[in-house]
Amino acid sequence: MNQKNESTNKFNNETRYKLNTKWIVTIFIIILILSFFYVEYVKKLTYKNIYHNITELSEQTATQLNLAINDQKKFVEFMVDSINRGFFKTTDEIFDRFKGDLENYNFTRLVILDQNGNGTTSDGHLVQNYTNIQEFFQQNTVYLSENRPSTVSNNQVNIYSKTFELNGQKLVLFATINTTDYKEILLRRLFNGNGGTYLINNDGMVLIDSFDVIKENNVNLYDFFKTHYHAQNPDNLEKINTMQENIKKLQVGTFDIKLDEDIYFLHYEKVNVNDWYIVTIAPNSIIGKELTLFLILSVGICLFIIFIILGISIYIDISSQKKNRKLYKVAYIDPITLLGNALYFKENGSIYLQNPVKNKYIITLDINKFKALNNIYGYEFCNRILKTLGENLSKILPSNNITCRISNDVFATLFSYSKNINQLLNNIFHNVSKLNINGTELHVNLAIGVYKLKQNDIDINKVLDKSYMARSKIKGLYDANYYIFDDLLENQLVEEQKIESCMEQALKDNEFEVFYQPKVFTNTEKIAGAEALVRWRRNGEIIPPNKFIPLFEKNKFITKLDFYIFEQVCKDLACWKEKYDFIPKVSINVSKEHFINENFIQDYVKITEHYHLDRSQIDLEITESATIDANIDILKILNNIKAQGFTISIDDFGTGYSSLSMLQNMPIDIIKIDKIFIDKADLSNHDNIINYIMFLANRLGVKTIIEGVETQEQTKFIREIKCDMIQGYYYSKPISKEDFENYFNQHK
Ligand code: C2E
Ligand code: CA
Ligand code: CA
Repeated sequence: MNQKNESTNKFNNETRYKLNTKWIVTIFIIILILSFFYVEYVKKLTYKNIYHNITELSEQTATQLNLAINDQKKFVEFMVDSINRGFFKTTDEIFDRFKGDLENYNFTRLVILDQNGNGTTSDGHLVQNYTNIQEFFQQNTVYLSENRPSTVSNNQVNIYSKTFELNGQKLVLFATINTTDYKEILLRRLFNGNGGTYLINNDGMVLIDSFDVIKENNVNLYDFFKTHYHAQNPDNLEKINTMQENIKKLQVGTFDIKLDEDIYFLHYEKVNVNDWYIVTIAPNSIIGKELTLFLILSVGICLFIIFIILGISIYIDISSQKKNRKLYKVAYIDPITLLGNALYFKENGSIYLQNPVKNKYIITLDINKFKALNNIYGYEFCNRILKTLGENLSKILPSNNITCRISNDVFATLFSYSKNINQLLNNIFHNVSKLNINGTELHVNLAIGVYKLKQNDIDINKVLDKSYMARSKIKGLYDANYYIFDDLLENQLVEEQKIESCMEQALKDNEFEVFYQPKVFTNTEKIAGAEALVRWRRNGEIIPPNKFIPLFEKNKFITKLDFYIFEQVCKDLACWKEKYDFIPKVSINVSKEHFINENFIQDYVKITEHYHLDRSQIDLEITESATIDANIDILKILNNIKAQGFTISIDDFGTGYSSLSMLQNMPIDIIKIDKIFIDKADLSNHDNIINYIMFLANRLGVKTIIEGVETQEQTKFIREIKCDMIQGYYYSKPISKEDFENYFNQHK
């Protein structure tokens, strides 16, 4: 494989690789987007969950506190009830009776004071002028105070109080509790100990702080939040204000505030005692950690699954690439030379034509008489010839060439070359043709067609055709070297295009006519038949077949034309059958382009049936070169033709290098020896090729005819070598139907 092929393979792999990375990047972007939505969704869900949890916890705390307070209230109620029923005469008797129960209700002591705030405590302290004593005397039911200084220590206490009368004097009973004791209730292990609770009154005054962050007394929670929780964030400020307002209105609520990177979840809940409120706070750190862990885990699992899927798909991709490479080889690579094949050339050539480089050339080259080499040396050796030729060619051409073997012995190459092209072509002609095969030096004759591409050449088939045309200019010439497509060929091409543009119409307008060239028996010189040859009468002029038949073979219009000519001949034969008692046998040329369709002969048969003709009166001429086309099952086709009763001539015999073994098996009737042999023959010496062919034909039991006979000497010679028939200008040129009618009537 040459450089270009390698680089094209690389290119294929690279695009594949890019394709993969493209996929991977797209998948990652999709994952990222999905992850974002997923995280948002989980966050929302988590928030909802946290809101729910914190509300529940807050409610529980409030209820628990409420229950504890009510218990204590009931005990105070009970004590005052007992006093009112007159069980006790002195305060000491009261203290003595209830002192033992205090601990059960978390009370520290009892205090009994008069309206001036003087009295004693159950643990023996004297109290004088207790401040704001009237606050307690104003209450009718059991009253729970907010935090107050202790009557005997510096502690903060809360006081349960109720007034009563003893011995006609109005007194008040205090059951005090250390504020810190409430903490025990409030101090719930919220969120693994990271959350906590405040107890506030309706104005926001902090009564209990389970966090222990508020050291002073009489601190307002709203103010504390506003300063300590960096609540300058207007959003947060608003939320705290809302809480303040809601609490005033005795409503409950949940919200979150963002501080720097942290988020705090808050819920405020009524205790149903003195309009007090529980404010529960859960900092985000623990929630965040849980959430992050959860997210990392789920995204991780997601990624893991995707990687596995990706891995599997890459594995499948690689194995399918391997398979593709195999298929690629079958589809694009010529197994003999390891160069690209025709398909490869056309596909990559089309891309190359779009390349804006200058001085692009296309070359097609083939080995003259390669088929003869095949017959002489055998296929294996000739395959080596092709391989070596391909290697030589790739070596000599400038880099970045696309070089392929596009059919049997035809190589095509595309490249760009800015130096002297004639030098390169001479180099190819003289050096590529020198082959060393298994140590044997061999020289083959190359036919090289060249076309220099123009800027607007974008059709690979068209430029290939031009190089073919150039090559056909030197085909068959001995020691010809190369031909560069020129104005002459350009004109020919223009001519061909003109022909192509009008051929269909010409057929409809009956511009094609049949001429007949008589065939004569060598011995009697009587008529043996005729060959039907097409003539194109256009604008009063007759165009000879060599001007259009090769083109029609290329564009396959020949199959239509042949069919038309065949029908014209049948019409003529039917006409002569009516008119005369004699009808000559007519040979009709059948192009090998028909053979693509194995059943073409059925169409011919139908026409003969239509004209009620005896098919043995019709001979079909098939060129020898058609019989050695490897793509055609020629035996089957010839047998089909024979089975329908036609006779078969092998036309241009001697130019196609068919092998003896092939001829032996073919159901042929006549060998038609090409004009070239009679032209070259040494008429005084019988030891020549024609004689050898005659010998061969006799062995095969086949009749012979020599075409292109122009002189009397030639007819004499032919008579001597006992060839059966003659066709040539010596007797008659191809003539019109009417002229031929006269001819055969005179030569019956
Ligand atoms: P061909 O089949 O080998 O036909 C013989 C050619 O040799 C004819 O050329 C004929 O005019 C020419 N010829 C015959 N005797 C002499 C002679 O003594 N001297 C010289 N110099 N030439 C002679 P023509 O008619 O120009 O046809 C050329 C070729 O075109 C034919 O070669 C055949 O291959 C093709 N052709 C003609 N008509 C048809 C057709 O209807 N169908 C197909 N497929 N091909 C046709
Ligand atoms: Ca012929
Ligand atoms: Ca011929």
